[in-house]
Amino acid sequence: MDIGAAELTTWVDDPWAGESYSVAGIAAHPDDAEMLGQGFGRVLIAGEHTAVEWSGLMEGALRSGQRAADQLAGFEVA
Ligand SMILES: Cc1cc2nc3c(=O)[nH]c(=O)nc-3n(C[C@H](O)[C@H](O)[C@H](O)COP(=O)(O)OP(=O)(O)OC[C@H]3O[C@@H](n4cnc5c(N)ncnc54)[C@H](O)[C@@H]3O)c2cc1C
Repeated sequence: MDIGAAELTTWVDDPWAGESYSVAGIAAHPDDAEMLGQGFGRVLIAGEHTAVEWSGLMEGALRSGQRAADQLAGFEVA
């Protein structure tokens, strides 16, 4: 590993790190994430909060973006 090429970043000193993740409240339903991921008509929703078992993780954010893009690609142009 080239130590000189490595860069250490931390959440507190990285101006581009402003992200967060969801936490289910006491009124949340277990199916909420899946329901949100289905979208509402032509309104599609991506984000880790829609990624069911991957919620709260970068992996969930990536998977939800791919899923929303796939949904969008499936739309027919009116
Ligand atoms: C301190 C911390 C440590 C973490 N550590 C890890 C880890 O080690 N591993 C891991 O896998 N995950 C980790 N996570 C979780 C991971 O960062 C998130 O799951 C991921 O960033 C969520 O991505 P997202 O695209 O769903 O949402 P976000 O990254 O939150 O992106 C949402 C974007 O929408 C923007 N936005 C909000 N409101 C509006 C609006 N009205 N109009 C326009 N834009 C808007 C926000 O500015 C933001 O850029 C961590 C999170 C935090 C906070």
